[in-house]
Amino acid sequence: MISVKGYAAQSATTVLTPFSFQRRELGPRDILIEIDYCGICHSDIHQVRNEWGGSIYPMVPGHEIVGVVTKVGSEVAQFKVTDKAGVGCFVDSCRTCFSCQQNEEQYCEGHLVTSYNNVEKDGKTPTYGGYSSSIVVDENYCLKISSKMSLAEIAPLLCAGVTTYSPLRHWKLEKGQRLGVVGLGGLGHMAVKFGVAMGAEVTVLSHSPNKENDAKNLGAHHFVATNKTDFSKLLSNHFDLILNTVSASHDLNTYLQTIKKDGTMVILGVPPESTQLAAFPLILKRRRLAGSLIGGIKETQEMLDYCAEKNIGSDIEVIPAKEINTAYERAVIGDVRYRFVVDCKTF
Ligand code: NAP
Ligand code: ZN
Ligand code: ZN
Repeated sequence: MISVKGYAAQSATTVLTPFSFQRRELGPRDILIEIDYCGICHSDIHQVRNEWGGSIYPMVPGHEIVGVVTKVGSEVAQFKVTDKAGVGCFVDSCRTCFSCQQNEEQYCEGHLVTSYNNVEKDGKTPTYGGYSSSIVVDENYCLKISSKMSLAEIAPLLCAGVTTYSPLRHWKLEKGQRLGVVGLGGLGHMAVKFGVAMGAEVTVLSHSPNKENDAKNLGAHHFVATNKTDFSKLLSNHFDLILNTVSASHDLNTYLQTIKKDGTMVILGVPPESTQLAAFPLILKRRRLAGSLIGGIKETQEMLDYCAEKNIGSDIEVIPAKEINTAYERAVIGDVRYRFVVDCKTF
């Protein structure tokens, strides 16, 4: 077994504290990654606090993992020692269902083994995530990193990056189309970067008026403060596509009215509470409301390669392990520009 140091939550109501645990010895197709950095996603906070229900403790969160390969199993073909590698939101899947066969493992109809808050395919070994010093993962669920950017800026691409890239590709965002990004946080700021890189006219819809300059600096063409303006009238029938990244309960109906005929709003954020949906905003303009979950391994690699080519990384604040709990408090009140990344050499 491999001894690992990390940070864990022991319950929904206690802070994360240092936690030592063991990972499996390498199987023939496993690689060992010494973790350099792990991003803090709002999904970590939702799960640590059991806001979605069903959380498993102790929980070592973290699914925006980057580091260096230090050991490979006997049959590993795609990685060698000293390669940079990434791990995202899942570390295994059934590999046989329709979604897995379609390279969309995130929608696995069998057992999607998420990187933490889950159990391995043996049904009993808990999975522990990236707030830790090292991780052992099957090479088929690891990503190659070729970007020259710092690993810290790349880490958030493993979740926030692919979660926003995937729907832009799936709904075929075209040059010149109007993209709305609701919520300028970890996901939102990546959505702006991708939308701009793909040639769209990007509008940020934010409940934080003080983010206007940031939105413009990220390349957004327009900024709308949703708590000040009657924005649904101002932007009536405006957007081709909206990515909604908001982590808290809010009124979807108002945003739906800003979509053009046949346009789509994609829900990415997962507020703990459900919301009321009115029929008229949908039926009057044949609008669509959809959802999207992260991305498959193939598409995550495509996104990382796209980011390497376009020099796209995340805007980050690197913190030592001992500041994780403060970072959670700050993330919840929106005091982060735009992703906390844990320095995993500090465990
Ligand atoms: P984040 O950095 O905290 O950003 C969330 C943003 O939502 C905030 O920056 C804020 O933007 C907005 N917001 C927060 N509270 C709000 C409120 N009360 N009313 C209106 N807007 C509010 O979080 P994140 O890491 O980007 O994650 C966002 C959500 O996506 C989370 O629920 C997370 O679990 C989910 N997620 C989903 C997937 C997926 O596969 N679908 C993947 C990763 C994360 P403004 O200040 O600009 O309004
Ligand atoms: Zn995430
Ligand atoms: Zn499957």
